[in-house]
Amino acid sequence: MSVIKVPEADAAGWKCRACDAELEMLPVELEYLDSLFTVALPTCPQCGQVLIPENLALGKMNQVEHLLEDK
Ligand SMILES: [Zn+2]
Repeated sequence: MSVIKVPEADAAGWKCRACDAELEMLPVELEYLDSLFTVALPTCPQCGQVLIPENLALGKMNQVEHLLEDK
């Protein structure tokens, strides 16, 4: 499965609060509407904490719905 890239997601400037490590764009598996998607999201390389900004959470799900409709 290809990795979905979300324009709103940008790891630049984000740090993990627990580790103080800079986040990297890493593929994360998300389950939505009974399907598994791989989305590149800002992720802490040390503890695996994934950052999902609120605006992204809404916009991303819209994009995923469009992907489903296209298939
Ligand atoms: Zn961390």
